[in-house]
Amino acid sequence: MATNRVLLITGASRGIGAATARLAASRGYDVCVNYRRNRAAADAVVDACHAAGARAAAVPADVAVEGDVVALFQACDRTLGPVTALVNNTGILETQMRVESMDAARLARVFATNVTGSFLCAREAIRRMSPKHGGAGGAIVNVSSGASRLGSPGEYVDYAASKGAIDTLTIGLAQEVADDGIRVNCVRPGFIYTDIHASGGEPNRVDRVKQFVPMKRGGQPEEVAHAILWLLSDEASFTTGAFIDVTGGK
Ligand code: NAP
Repeated sequence: MATNRVLLITGASRGIGAATARLAASRGYDVCVNYRRNRAAADAVVDACHAAGARAAAVPADVAVEGDVVALFQACDRTLGPVTALVNNTGILETQMRVESMDAARLARVFATNVTGSFLCAREAIRRMSPKHGGAGGAIVNVSSGASRLGSPGEYVDYAASKGAIDTLTIGLAQEVADDGIRVNCVRPGFIYTDIHASGGEPNRVDRVKQFVPMKRGGQPEEVAHAILWLLSDEASFTTGAFIDVTGGK
């Protein structure tokens, strides 16, 4: 097993990020667990990583704030070492509504966190991974959504559009840094059982919409984590700019 594989996961205190952290620790990564508010939940993820034999650290940062992102990666440098892998997992959505009711403040929050946050974290990762900056290559996985293809009408077109930006970030960045030895790929989850749906005002949304999924069920965070870990791994060594839809067929 390779040593000193340092994985930073944004938004890893719960949901898909937490599942990815636990799985990564069991695969031999040291894991930087970013969170925004819930220190206790992040500490529990760190404890689970330690139990799997990994080094791990919880680091608070709002990915929408440039200074926070810079400090996040510097904290990772100090505690675990420079990142060799990044999962741009943080994503937010807000109360379900039609576009005609959305104000600029909401749009700014969603795009700042989902889009600007992913760009800033990718920038900091590349500054550590690229041979131009003394790095030895690496891998980035962006967590988009099936919403980027479906548009989320009547619920959160803003969120879906932000995920469209993540898809395009993946396509462009993958080509930009390919000869720096950095692979950039994307996972698009479908309806997954996490707390994110409560943010939209419908905690039980997955059970309402699962009838529209060809596999007739929602997904578990661990099912998304497995796709992320494969894209990060050497098994995906010739895969970049690629998308894995973990959606049950929708
Ligand atoms: P979740 O359960 O709502 O968890 C969100 C995580 O992001 C938490 O750890 C939260 O930390 C953190 N976070 C929120 N705002 C942040 C910020 N500004 N800076 C840093 N961290 C922040 O989300 P999830 O369902 O696991 O979703 C993970 C990713 O998958 C997102 O990109 C989401 O869009 C995508 N996705 C999810 C689904 C689904 O059905 N669940 C479907 C498609 C795509 P604190 O709790 O500490 O604040």
